[in-house]
Amino acid sequence: MILDGKQVSSAIKASLAAQVSTFPEKYGRVPNLAVILVGEDPASQVYVRNKARGCEAVGISNSTYRLPAETTEPELLSLIGQLNADPAVDGILVQLPLPRHLDEHKVIETIAMEKDVDGFHPGNVAALWQKRPCIVACTPKGIMKLLESAGIDPCGKRAVVVGRSNIVGLPVAKLLLDANATVTVCHTRTKNLPEITRQAEILVVAAGRAKMVTADMVSDGVVVIDVGMDRDEDGKLCGDVDYGSVAPKASWITPVPGGVGPMTIACLLENTVQCFLRRL
Ligand code: NAP
Repeated sequence: MILDGKQVSSAIKASLAAQVSTFPEKYGRVPNLAVILVGEDPASQVYVRNKARGCEAVGISNSTYRLPAETTEPELLSLIGQLNADPAVDGILVQLPLPRHLDEHKVIETIAMEKDVDGFHPGNVAALWQKRPCIVACTPKGIMKLLESAGIDPCGKRAVVVGRSNIVGLPVAKLLLDANATVTVCHTRTKNLPEITRQAEILVVAAGRAKMVTADMVSDGVVVIDVGMDRDEDGKLCGDVDYGSVAPKASWITPVPGGVGPMTIACLLENTVQCFLRRL
């Protein structure tokens, strides 16, 4: 069966829109998200546009700051400082990746923790790993919501995560662990990857390698979450999982597109509302 991220994210957005529509009367304003885009990376431009559209769909006001690729670090940090200090701004998102001369860690650390809608600030990451209240990164949060929407309880299940990035692999592994799964994290130095992925009852793939998970790497009945957003040999958008051969063996699987992607945006909007409510 298909884990339909479009459908689940639409339901989340509808509920957020209903909630946000009550805010002007209750609080005198709606949440406000500031998005910063440095440079002209085509994929980043699409992501930023989709985020702005998502905000508009639920009634979150938003502004996109488009800065030239040659923006200096002090210039970028100064803009973030102004947005941190602006009481009308609830959330700040700096679209990654940044041009190479800018230090991503320094930039993320500069965002006020309570406005860090992406959940990438070290304070939010530490809080996640210490099981304290925090803003959870959007993609891992969206994955957990997708599982929940289908009634898939990770408790006691063997979960395998392929990928150990700070933005997907590691936080989703932690959320699965918190949901009482037994979690294995794989990466490029993992030996016998197919042997490990075949043990998975829940398999999350966030490797950024087009169609790398093939039918021989999964067991019957597995739940497959494909985070990848890759291009196949014909330049068509595809995931890290070879959907055609893996889907018949899976009990549940996310399509690409229409799986994890829309959930990421829905969770960004939810995080923005969360930041707004926390700052009241
Ligand atoms: P990343 O930072 O490049 O990390 C990739 C991870 O996968 C690394 O830990 C790497 O291992 C591991 N890996 C790569 N090739 C592997 C292989 N052949 N076998 C085992 N492990 C392998 O990527 P990311 O930012 O996490 O993103 C992963 C994918 O998700 C990308 O396609 C990205 O576009 C997509 N994505 C989608 C969304 C969404 O909303 N749908 C959001 C974020 C990312 P090492 O650590 O050993 O290098």
